[in-house]
Amino acid sequence: MSATLWTKIQKLLGIKADGIPGDKTANAVAARLGIVTATPESAPSRVTIDSRSAGNIATLRSDAQDKAREWLLKCLEAGINVKIISGSRTYQEQAALYAKGRSAPGPKVTNSPPGFSWHNFDVAWDFVVFDANDQPLWESPLTERCGRIAESLGLEWGGSWNGFQDISHIQIKTGCSLVEARQRVKDGKWT
Ligand SMILES: [Zn+2]
Repeated sequence: MSATLWTKIQKLLGIKADGIPGDKTANAVAARLGIVTATPESAPSRVTIDSRSAGNIATLRSDAQDKAREWLLKCLEAGINVKIISGSRTYQEQAALYAKGRSAPGPKVTNSPPGFSWHNFDVAWDFVVFDANDQPLWESPLTERCGRIAESLGLEWGGSWNGFQDISHIQIKTGCSLVEARQRVKDGKWT
């Protein structure tokens, strides 16, 4: 097969497009096809978390940090160039976002006022798949693949929500409602 064709395939997979099919390409193809590529437990991790993702992970609650890291590494090991583009938001930051398209200029970016987004409780993050040149792939089928990986780890993926779906959103399962979460924050019991 020609290098040009491999380059095209690699671009579609969102991995480094050098036209040379190696392990990373094989893993990405396998991940795309839904074939599980088993890596031995003892094998050292060949992937590293980028600084942007690491910074966003650091804003999360410690249990969510562990899960976010585990999920991200699993995606990266599957050959997907994915980054965590947002983590926790304070009530104040959420208020500023909510104002957009309402009392502030620009299009609406969220339907959640402060206290109505799980990002305000340090347990949620948003991700985007990038191509080999680090350009965001908004329509990539790999987004769903990342969501399914999250679900396989017991996480909640926004793409599986009933009604409004948020395919870039992942959170840990808290076992409580937003109403309860807001009350716990008020009582200083959200940990
Ligand atoms: Zn989100």
